[in-house]
Amino acid sequence: MLYWGDLLPGPDWGDLPGQAGFAGETRPFTQDPGSGNATQRATSWNLQNVWHSERWLLMALEQVDAYLEKHRDHFEAQLKDLIRIPSVSAQPDHDPDTQRAATFVRDDLAAIGLKAELISTQRHPLVYAEWLGAPGKPTLLVYGHYDVQPPEPLEPWLSPPFEPTIRDGNLYARGATDDKGQMFTHLKAAQAWLKATGSLPVNVKFLIEGEEEIGGVNLETYVAEHRDRLACDYAVISDTSQFAPGMPAITYGLKGLALDKKKLEAKK
Ligand SMILES: [Zn+2]
Repeated sequence: MLYWGDLLPGPDWGDLPGQAGFAGETRPFTQDPGSGNATQRATSWNLQNVWHSERWLLMALEQVDAYLEKHRDHFEAQLKDLIRIPSVSAQPDHDPDTQRAATFVRDDLAAIGLKAELISTQRHPLVYAEWLGAPGKPTLLVYGHYDVQPPEPLEPWLSPPFEPTIRDGNLYARGATDDKGQMFTHLKAAQAWLKATGSLPVNVKFLIEGEEEIGGVNLETYVAEHRDRLACDYAVISDTSQFAPGMPAITYGLKGLALDKKKLEAKK
């Protein structure tokens, strides 16, 4: 469980957003040592510190929200560009597209300001990126995937599977909600914090794969061999859903993958 206090800046965190010293420079909160006995002074200092921390967080969140709102159209256009790439991991014909989707995600993470790279595997590449500029704060590892299921059969589609189309306020396309949309949300959250406040309240690592839809083994192998690099306090899986617009959900269990072949015989 991530506690609110984990995200609050400590006394050595820096200053309020928007003021000199916020982005990078460390400046302790100032406090009047005051009068009274040691306990009274400590209590007064703590209250001041909590007040500063909460005020800092609220101001930061306001800036992050404003950044997201300002760039909303651009983010939507970017997501559509990603969705237009038919990164069907199960179909070798689409291998160049799958590679293109991986590169797209890597480039976006790098543009946001993370150290990002493509990691080749025996099949589709992994994307890894990190920002570790919050020493002493928790580390989140965000998982997602950029590959999609084949779109066939095509007949039931109301609009082309790889041409994102908005109907009734929803974006329809293959991969829009599994998992490009959700994964992109985490990327843009990191971007908003970094660009709007110059920093993230926690350390983040991203591990985005391209074999989720084929139950590939390359992610598992990589994780087993890179435990230190991927070490984290919390893992966040972007490949989940929410109940309704404006109603997020915390998913605490996911099904695995089961393959089965059934043969039905019936009398004519
Ligand atoms: Zn998925």
